[in-house]
Amino acid sequence: MTEIPQTRLILSTDYELFFHQSGTVQRCLIDPAERLLDFTARHGMKMTFFVDTGMLKCLDRHAAEHRELARQAEIIRAQLRRISSAGHELGLHVHPHWEDTRLSDGAWDFSETRYRLDMFSDDEVVNVLETNFALLQALSDEPVVSYRAGGFCIEPFERIGPTLSRLGVTIDSSVVPGTRLDDPQKGFDASQAPDEPCWRFDEAPRHRVADGAFCEVAITPLTVGRFYFWGRLLNRLGGSRGGEHFGDGVSKAIGRTEVVRRLLGQSRVSELSMDDAKSQLLLDALAAEPSRRAWHVMGHPKLLSERSLQRLEEFAAAANIAEGMTVAAFASHC
Ligand SMILES: [Zn+2]
Repeated sequence: MTEIPQTRLILSTDYELFFHQSGTVQRCLIDPAERLLDFTARHGMKMTFFVDTGMLKCLDRHAAEHRELARQAEIIRAQLRRISSAGHELGLHVHPHWEDTRLSDGAWDFSETRYRLDMFSDDEVVNVLETNFALLQALSDEPVVSYRAGGFCIEPFERIGPTLSRLGVTIDSSVVPGTRLDDPQKGFDASQAPDEPCWRFDEAPRHRVADGAFCEVAITPLTVGRFYFWGRLLNRLGGSRGGEHFGDGVSKAIGRTEVVRRLLGQSRVSELSMDDAKSQLLLDALAAEPSRRAWHVMGHPKLLSERSLQRLEEFAAAANIAEGMTVAAFASHC
């Protein structure tokens, strides 16, 4: 058997609640994030937590009248401060739908009207980025330098790039090369992005510019065949809601047209993920590209499960990971 050369693992996670039925802070964030911290401690590595700061902003907005929400904001902040002081990276993850979210009978009433940041006015875009950044920077021991757009909707970048640059945020990690989602609300198109672990850019992450001011640290793409979606459907029909994950919330179901497209369409590109369902593809990804030297696996604390953490362990062992690092640390090699 030939020896597998050593590789780098970049691990990042979107620290956020569910969009449809939010779930609880304890089970969607606190508990599963601790499990990730156990994993990184065992492997002597650091990782990046992309924090949905809009959630924190919304909790703060209601904290004065609701002691429970004040408590939730407090335990989130305590955990994030601890994560940062342990040497992990806190990155900015902006889901601007929180701007329009209201509290109704103790539950979040999410608005879907403005899912992407480019649906906001110029002044609002600046304000959303500045306020989210300030909330996160207050919790981080290091300057906040990395960004991930909510729902991977990073373009049009022209409207957010100048503000990010002014705030010192010069690394993006919203691109999964080869992916595309046709949806008037949540659509994005990274189908023409370079298939590289990282590159520099100026005006749009999908256009590489040799000495660009920004760096893209891409999430590793993965080709997913129809069998995967059929497997998930059969599981669901067999009584499993696919809900073995730690988080106790519910995502919004995808539309029927999209379901049919996935079941009947060609193979499609998705992100390499440690989340419950997608983690079954981690070892397949490794087998398909044994010579890849940098793997960027993403995920969400809310969607982790016992079995997905186990698969992440197996992946790390099989890939012969020499070094596990944050998005910012990897960008410094770019
Ligand atoms: Zn997100």
